[in-house]
Amino acid sequence: MSYVNIKAILGDARKNHYAVGAFNIVNYLTAKAVVEAAEELGQPIIIQTSVKTVKAFGIKEMMGFLKPIADNAKVNVAIHLDHSTDVQFTKDCIDGGWSSVMYDGSQLPLADNIKNTMEIVAYAKPKNVTVEGELGAIVGVEDDIVVKESDHAHAKPADCRIYLKETGVDAFAPAIGTAHGVYKGEIKIDYDLFEEINEFSLCPLVLHGGTGLNDEVFHQLIGLGAAKVNISTAIKIAYCQGMAVFSKENPTKNDPLKLDAFTKQQVKKVVTEHIRFFSLMD
Ligand SMILES: [Zn+2]
Repeated sequence: MSYVNIKAILGDARKNHYAVGAFNIVNYLTAKAVVEAAEELGQPIIIQTSVKTVKAFGIKEMMGFLKPIADNAKVNVAIHLDHSTDVQFTKDCIDGGWSSVMYDGSQLPLADNIKNTMEIVAYAKPKNVTVEGELGAIVGVEDDIVVKESDHAHAKPADCRIYLKETGVDAFAPAIGTAHGVYKGEIKIDYDLFEEINEFSLCPLVLHGGTGLNDEVFHQLIGLGAAKVNISTAIKIAYCQGMAVFSKENPTKNDPLKLDAFTKQQVKKVVTEHIRFFSLMD
Protein backbone atom coordinates (compact mmCIF):
# COMPACT_ATOMS: atom_id res chain seq x y z
CA MET A 1 0.00 0.00 0.00
CA SER A 2 1.27 3.44 0.50
CA TYR A 3 2.38 6.32 2.61
CA VAL A 4 -0.61 8.66 2.89
CA ASN A 5 -1.91 11.66 4.82
CA ILE A 6 -4.78 11.34 7.29
CA LYS A 7 -7.41 12.67 4.91
CA ALA A 8 -7.01 9.53 2.82
CA ILE A 9 -7.57 7.36 5.90
CA LEU A 10 -10.20 9.28 7.88
CA GLY A 11 -12.60 10.01 5.02
CA ASP A 12 -13.48 6.35 4.69
CA ALA A 13 -13.61 5.87 8.47
CA ARG A 14 -16.07 8.71 8.91
CA LYS A 15 -18.25 7.56 6.04
CA ASN A 16 -18.41 3.99 7.29
CA HIS A 17 -18.71 4.75 11.01
CA TYR A 18 -15.53 3.28 12.37
CA ALA A 19 -12.42 4.87 13.86
CA VAL A 20 -8.73 4.58 13.04
CA GLY A 21 -6.21 4.32 15.84
CA ALA A 22 -3.40 6.88 16.00
CA PHE A 23 -0.72 5.33 18.17
CA ASN A 24 2.09 7.34 19.76
CA ILE A 25 5.28 5.45 19.03
CA VAL A 26 8.57 6.12 20.80
CA ASN A 27 11.13 4.33 18.63
CA TYR A 28 11.63 1.83 15.80
CA LEU A 29 10.36 -1.14 17.82
CA THR A 30 7.04 0.46 18.75
CA ALA A 31 6.51 1.82 15.21
CA LYS A 32 7.10 -1.66 13.78
CA ALA A 33 4.75 -3.20 16.33
CA VAL A 34 1.96 -0.76 15.41
CA VAL A 35 2.31 -1.30 11.66
CA GLU A 36 2.57 -5.09 11.96
CA ALA A 37 -0.61 -5.18 14.05
CA ALA A 38 -2.40 -3.10 11.40
CA GLU A 39 -1.11 -5.33 8.60
CA GLU A 40 -2.33 -8.48 10.31
CA LEU A 41 -5.83 -6.99 10.55
CA GLY A 42 -5.70 -5.36 7.11
CA GLN A 43 -6.53 -1.93 8.55
CA PRO A 44 -5.05 1.50 7.80
CA ILE A 45 -3.03 3.04 10.61
CA ILE A 46 -1.67 6.34 11.90
CA ILE A 47 1.78 6.37 13.48
CA GLN A 48 1.92 9.35 15.79
CA THR A 49 5.00 11.05 17.18
CA SER A 50 5.03 13.49 20.09
CA VAL A 51 7.17 16.61 19.78
CA LYS A 52 9.28 15.38 22.69
CA THR A 53 10.02 12.09 20.92
CA VAL A 54 10.89 13.81 17.64
CA LYS A 55 13.24 16.16 19.47
CA ALA A 56 14.90 13.21 21.25
CA PHE A 57 15.80 11.65 17.87
CA GLY A 58 16.01 14.67 15.61
CA ILE A 59 13.64 15.25 12.67
CA LYS A 60 15.86 13.73 10.01
CA GLU A 61 16.96 10.74 12.04
CA MET A 62 13.42 9.90 13.07
CA MET A 63 11.95 10.14 9.56
CA GLY A 64 14.95 8.10 8.41
CA PHE A 65 13.67 5.01 10.19
CA LEU A 66 9.93 5.73 10.04
CA LYS A 67 9.58 6.33 6.31
CA PRO A 68 10.79 2.87 5.21
CA ILE A 69 8.35 1.27 7.67
CA ALA A 70 5.48 3.22 6.08
CA ASP A 71 6.69 2.69 2.52
CA ASN A 72 7.00 -1.06 2.95
CA ALA A 73 3.72 -1.57 4.80
CA LYS A 74 0.95 -3.72 3.34
CA VAL A 75 -1.66 -1.21 4.54
CA ASN A 76 -2.01 2.58 4.26
CA VAL A 77 0.12 4.35 6.85
CA ALA A 78 0.20 8.02 7.84
CA ILE A 79 2.91 9.58 9.98
CA HIS A 80 1.38 12.31 12.11
CA LEU A 81 2.94 14.88 14.46
CA ASP A 82 0.99 15.08 17.72
CA HIS A 83 0.32 18.30 19.70
CA SER A 84 2.83 20.72 18.28
CA THR A 85 2.45 24.15 19.88
CA ASP A 86 5.37 25.62 17.93
CA VAL A 87 4.62 26.98 14.44
CA GLN A 88 8.20 26.75 13.21
CA PHE A 89 8.75 23.24 14.55
CA THR A 90 5.50 22.13 12.88
CA LYS A 91 6.76 23.52 9.56
CA ASP A 92 10.11 21.80 10.07
CA CYS A 93 8.32 18.46 10.44
CA ILE A 94 6.25 19.15 7.30
CA ASP A 95 9.53 19.74 5.46
CA GLY A 96 11.02 16.70 7.20
CA GLY A 97 8.53 14.27 5.64
CA TRP A 98 5.58 13.98 8.05
CA SER A 99 2.41 13.37 6.02
CA SER A 100 0.26 15.01 8.67
CA VAL A 101 0.65 17.38 11.63
CA MET A 102 -1.38 18.60 14.56
CA TYR A 103 -0.96 22.24 15.38
CA ASP A 104 -2.27 22.75 18.91
CA GLY A 105 -3.04 26.38 19.57
CA SER A 106 -5.80 25.52 22.04
CA GLN A 107 -4.10 27.39 24.86
CA LEU A 108 -4.07 30.62 22.85
CA PRO A 109 -6.93 33.07 22.45
CA LEU A 110 -9.23 31.95 19.61
CA ALA A 111 -8.02 34.60 17.16
CA ASP A 112 -4.35 33.64 17.64
CA ASN A 113 -5.14 29.93 17.42
CA ILE A 114 -6.96 30.57 14.12
CA LYS A 115 -4.17 32.76 12.77
CA ASN A 116 -1.42 30.21 13.52
CA THR A 117 -3.47 27.25 12.33
CA MET A 118 -4.21 29.07 9.05
CA GLU A 119 -0.49 29.65 8.60
CA ILE A 120 0.21 25.94 9.06
CA VAL A 121 -2.62 24.90 6.72
CA ALA A 122 -1.33 27.27 4.02
CA TYR A 123 2.15 25.80 4.42
CA ALA A 124 1.00 22.16 4.50
CA LYS A 125 -1.62 22.04 1.72
CA PRO A 126 0.68 22.50 -1.31
CA LYS A 127 2.84 19.69 0.08
CA ASN A 128 -0.18 17.37 0.43
CA VAL A 129 0.27 17.33 4.20
CA THR A 130 -2.87 17.31 6.36
CA VAL A 131 -3.47 19.37 9.50
CA GLU A 132 -5.34 18.57 12.70
CA GLY A 133 -6.45 21.37 15.00
CA GLU A 134 -7.80 21.63 18.52
CA LEU A 135 -10.19 23.84 20.48
CA GLY A 136 -10.81 23.82 24.20
CA ALA A 137 -8.56 22.24 26.80
CA ILE A 138 -8.04 18.49 27.13
CA VAL A 139 -7.03 17.93 30.76
CA GLY A 140 -4.07 15.81 31.87
CA VAL A 141 -0.45 15.60 30.73
CA GLU A 142 0.59 15.21 27.11
CA ASP A 143 4.29 15.51 26.48
CA ASP A 144 5.23 18.51 28.59
CA ILE A 145 1.90 20.23 28.23
CA VAL A 146 0.06 20.11 31.55
CA VAL A 147 -3.59 21.12 31.64
CA LYS A 148 -5.19 21.16 35.09
CA GLU A 149 -8.82 20.35 35.64
CA SER A 150 -9.51 23.88 36.79
CA ASP A 151 -8.45 25.09 33.35
CA HIS A 152 -10.74 22.57 31.78
CA ALA A 153 -12.83 24.15 29.11
CA HIS A 154 -15.08 22.27 26.75
CA ALA A 155 -15.03 23.54 23.18
CA LYS A 156 -17.82 26.00 22.47
CA PRO A 157 -19.87 25.19 19.34
CA ALA A 158 -19.92 28.82 18.17
CA ASP A 159 -16.11 29.00 18.41
CA CYS A 160 -15.80 25.65 16.62
CA ARG A 161 -17.86 26.91 13.69
CA ILE A 162 -15.64 29.97 13.29
CA TYR A 163 -12.43 27.97 13.75
CA LEU A 164 -13.40 25.28 11.22
CA LYS A 165 -14.60 27.80 8.64
CA GLU A 166 -11.52 30.00 8.91
CA THR A 167 -8.81 27.36 9.15
CA GLY A 168 -10.04 24.58 6.86
CA VAL A 169 -8.28 21.90 8.96
CA ASP A 170 -8.50 18.27 7.81
CA ALA A 171 -9.26 16.86 11.26
CA PHE A 172 -10.54 18.49 14.41
CA ALA A 173 -10.18 17.70 18.11
CA PRO A 174 -12.75 19.57 20.19
CA ALA A 175 -12.33 19.20 23.96
CA ILE A 176 -15.40 17.33 25.20
CA GLY A 177 -14.15 16.06 28.56
CA THR A 178 -11.65 13.31 27.72
CA ALA A 179 -8.27 13.44 29.47
CA HIS A 180 -4.66 12.78 28.55
CA GLY A 181 -2.68 10.12 30.42
CA VAL A 182 -4.12 7.84 33.05
CA TYR A 183 -6.38 10.43 34.57
CA LYS A 184 -7.32 10.17 38.23
CA GLY A 185 -10.23 12.61 38.39
CA GLU A 186 -13.76 11.99 37.27
CA ILE A 187 -14.19 12.08 33.50
CA LYS A 188 -17.34 13.79 32.31
CA ILE A 189 -17.84 13.31 28.60
CA ASP A 190 -20.22 15.71 26.89
CA TYR A 191 -21.75 13.43 24.27
CA ASP A 192 -24.31 16.01 23.14
CA LEU A 193 -21.57 18.54 22.47
CA PHE A 194 -19.61 15.99 20.47
CA GLU A 195 -22.65 15.08 18.40
CA GLU A 196 -23.51 18.72 17.78
CA ILE A 197 -20.00 19.57 16.57
CA ASN A 198 -19.83 16.47 14.40
CA GLU A 199 -23.04 17.47 12.67
CA PHE A 200 -21.73 20.77 11.37
CA SER A 201 -18.06 19.85 11.01
CA LEU A 202 -17.01 19.18 7.43
CA CYS A 203 -13.90 17.33 8.60
CA PRO A 204 -13.65 14.18 10.78
CA LEU A 205 -13.42 14.55 14.55
CA VAL A 206 -10.57 13.28 16.69
CA LEU A 207 -10.72 11.82 20.17
CA HIS A 208 -7.76 12.56 22.41
CA GLY A 209 -6.93 10.85 25.68
CA GLY A 210 -8.19 7.44 24.60
CA THR A 211 -6.29 5.35 27.13
CA GLY A 212 -8.41 6.33 30.12
CA LEU A 213 -11.74 5.59 28.45
CA ASN A 214 -13.70 2.39 28.88
CA ASP A 215 -15.18 0.32 26.06
CA GLU A 216 -18.63 1.77 26.40
CA VAL A 217 -17.44 5.38 26.12
CA PHE A 218 -15.39 4.48 23.05
CA HIS A 219 -18.30 2.75 21.37
CA GLN A 220 -20.59 5.64 22.03
CA LEU A 221 -18.18 8.28 20.70
CA ILE A 222 -17.27 6.25 17.63
CA GLY A 223 -20.99 5.77 17.05
CA LEU A 224 -21.40 9.54 17.25
CA GLY A 225 -18.71 10.04 14.61
CA ALA A 226 -15.19 9.95 16.11
CA ALA A 227 -12.96 8.90 13.19
CA LYS A 228 -9.48 9.11 14.78
CA VAL A 229 -8.68 7.95 18.29
CA ASN A 230 -5.35 8.80 19.88
CA ILE A 231 -3.67 6.17 22.03
CA SER A 232 -0.45 7.04 23.80
CA THR A 233 -0.34 5.93 27.43
CA ALA A 234 -1.40 2.33 26.67
CA ILE A 235 1.62 1.97 24.34
CA LYS A 236 4.01 3.36 26.94
CA ILE A 237 2.67 0.93 29.55
CA ALA A 238 2.88 -2.10 27.22
CA TYR A 239 6.42 -1.19 26.20
CA CYS A 240 7.81 -0.57 29.70
CA GLN A 241 5.95 -3.47 31.31
CA GLY A 242 7.00 -5.81 28.49
CA MET A 243 10.63 -5.03 29.19
CA ALA A 244 10.14 -5.36 32.93
CA VAL A 245 8.41 -8.74 32.66
CA PHE A 246 11.03 -10.19 30.31
CA SER A 247 13.89 -8.96 32.47
CA LYS A 248 12.28 -10.36 35.61
CA GLU A 249 11.66 -13.76 34.01
CA ASN A 250 15.12 -13.90 32.43
CA PRO A 251 17.38 -12.09 34.87
CA THR A 252 20.64 -13.45 33.45
CA LYS A 253 19.80 -13.89 29.75
CA ASN A 254 21.14 -10.52 28.54
CA ASP A 255 19.76 -11.18 25.06
CA PRO A 256 18.65 -7.84 23.56
CA LEU A 257 17.02 -9.36 20.47
CA LYS A 258 14.86 -11.70 22.56
CA LEU A 259 14.02 -8.82 24.92
CA ASP A 260 12.98 -6.68 21.93
CA ALA A 261 10.98 -9.50 20.32
CA PHE A 262 9.06 -10.10 23.56
CA THR A 263 8.44 -6.37 24.12
CA LYS A 264 7.29 -5.86 20.53
CA GLN A 265 4.83 -8.71 20.96
CA GLN A 266 3.37 -7.03 24.06
CA VAL A 267 2.95 -3.71 22.24
CA LYS A 268 1.41 -5.48 19.23
CA LYS A 269 -1.11 -7.18 21.47
CA VAL A 270 -2.33 -3.87 22.89
CA VAL A 271 -2.44 -2.23 19.45
CA THR A 272 -4.34 -5.20 17.97
CA GLU A 273 -6.98 -5.02 20.72
CA HIS A 274 -7.48 -1.31 20.07
CA ILE A 275 -7.68 -1.61 16.27
CA ARG A 276 -10.20 -4.45 16.51
CA PHE A 277 -12.26 -2.38 18.87
CA PHE A 278 -12.11 0.87 16.88
CA SER A 279 -12.93 -0.84 13.60
CA LEU A 280 -15.80 -2.58 15.37
CA MET A 281 -14.51 -6.05 14.50
CA ASP A 282 -15.78 -8.94 16.66
ZN1 LIG B 1 -3.88 14.71 22.67
